[in-house]
Amino acid sequence: PEPRGTFNTDTHRSMALAEQAKRVAAEFDFGPDAVNRAVKEFIREMDEGLQKEGTELSQIPTYVTAVPNGTEKGLYMAVDLGGTNFRVCSIQLHGNTTFSLTQSKVAIPRELMVAKTSKELFSFLAKQIENFLKTHHEDHYAGHIRRRQTGETFKDEEIFNLGFTFSFPVNQIGINKGLLMRWTKGFDIAETVGQDVCALLQKEIDELHLPVRVAALVNDTVGTLMARSYTSPGKTGTLLGAIFGTGTNGAYVEKLDKVTKLTSKANEGAYDQSTGEMIVNTEWGSFDNSLRTLPVTPYDKELDEKSVNPGIQMFEKRVSGMFLGEILRLTILSLLKDPTFPLFRDENSATNDIHSTTQIHDDSPLYKQWGLDTSFLSICAGDHSPGHRVVRQTLDKDYGVSAVSTEDAEAVRAIAAAIGRRAARLSAVAIAAIVLNTGRLDASTSTGTATTEKKEGIDPPRGEGESSADDDDVIDIGVDGSLVEFYPNFEDYIREALREIEGIGEKGEKKIRIGIAKDGSGVGAALIALVAGRVGVDTD
Ligand code: BGC
Ligand code: MG
Repeated sequence: PEPRGTFNTDTHRSMALAEQAKRVAAEFDFGPDAVNRAVKEFIREMDEGLQKEGTELSQIPTYVTAVPNGTEKGLYMAVDLGGTNFRVCSIQLHGNTTFSLTQSKVAIPRELMVAKTSKELFSFLAKQIENFLKTHHEDHYAGHIRRRQTGETFKDEEIFNLGFTFSFPVNQIGINKGLLMRWTKGFDIAETVGQDVCALLQKEIDELHLPVRVAALVNDTVGTLMARSYTSPGKTGTLLGAIFGTGTNGAYVEKLDKVTKLTSKANEGAYDQSTGEMIVNTEWGSFDNSLRTLPVTPYDKELDEKSVNPGIQMFEKRVSGMFLGEILRLTILSLLKDPTFPLFRDENSATNDIHSTTQIHDDSPLYKQWGLDTSFLSICAGDHSPGHRVVRQTLDKDYGVSAVSTEDAEAVRAIAAAIGRRAARLSAVAIAAIVLNTGRLDASTSTGTATTEKKEGIDPPRGEGESSADDDDVIDIGVDGSLVEFYPNFEDYIREALREIEGIGEKGEKKIRIGIAKDGSGVGAALIALVAGRVGVDTD
């Protein structure tokens, strides 16, 4: 980093700063027209993806043809390989829309995300399953030890059916079989691409002689959709499960006869056709990779060029938690390089009554790729303390910028908010396109005669703080992930954009209920393992 000058007249500096921050924030504008154009493109790509392979939206058939209704019962296991953590859990479904869950969570070591061999990653996962059984299911673990010594095999009823939540794009060829299409979210193990990830996990489980059978392969969005349907069954069922976390994606209930590429796949009998529906995993992280309608700033370009997967997951790179911090970091860096931009140059910054010069230290994480965590955007959005004390302290403690002035904090907040708001407005594009293209809104309008305006502000008996809508009329969406959980106003920004979308508007927006399905992917995977066990699919 080069030495930088300072600005010495405070009012001059703070006016210039506010002005320029506003201009930079405006680079992240994504207005109503742009939103509507993107919705149309999303709908086009949805339809295209249902018809053929190799499209931008992958629209992966999941072979899951029914959502649960809350009466499902039993003890199941689930593991979840997300972008950041690996979770192992066992789930007791009580059959009355409730469940109890025991879980353990470890951060995935960075070196395993970019290992040379699949085995390094998958043996680590199996080891976590073993630890979990040892700690939480002693009886099963004891049986495992005995059999390890005597060489006898397990009886069927002693085996846990396990739902494997695998939060990456997989070409699913059966309920417990799927080939990795590509890694996302910074994972990069070349050997795994094209492999059946269930077989890879089962192999490592078997090497440890664990009483566990990988019964179902589930994308986290599908798990979220299932979990939401189990815990809040309604007349119309949940339409969409979506993740806004490290990565982003959604899975929704589609009409089977629209999934025309399935019939050409010679897989008749591979799934139950009686419901006439199938859950489709959109893999919307790759929406509009060719940038027909997505916004592009210099910072988006730079982020993409320096990523492990340039040119793909272009939507995800503007929306999800892995990337928003990096966008802000690149924006701040480019401002620091600009000699006319007065950020972090106060030579008379007042902190705790001591006046000193703002300094950015040479080893500041702001100078390193991925050095700025997306949680910082949440901190910015949530800091209403006088003089934005929390933002200033965080910059000092975590990011090596000392004696940050109130005006600096204000400028950083304005830019961070613009990045967060754009992410939410893009999220609204995906949600709206699915609501519109599935025709759910028309269906609910025609049955919901004159009920749309009533009950406003009265919550149905669901999670606290969920939006209200008439139960018969509602379009239910289950969401999970760090952004929806921790970023203040994320849902408000989504709703603001939904109201601007043709065909949704104020009325439609009110009918859309968005509810958190926290850690739902585990429960969802268990539910799918249950269904898989029930129809006795091939689990060899
Ligand atoms: C993956 C999806 C996943 C999403 C959320 C994306 O990077 O491609 O499969 O559902 O992250 O975890
Ligand atoms: Mg996850």
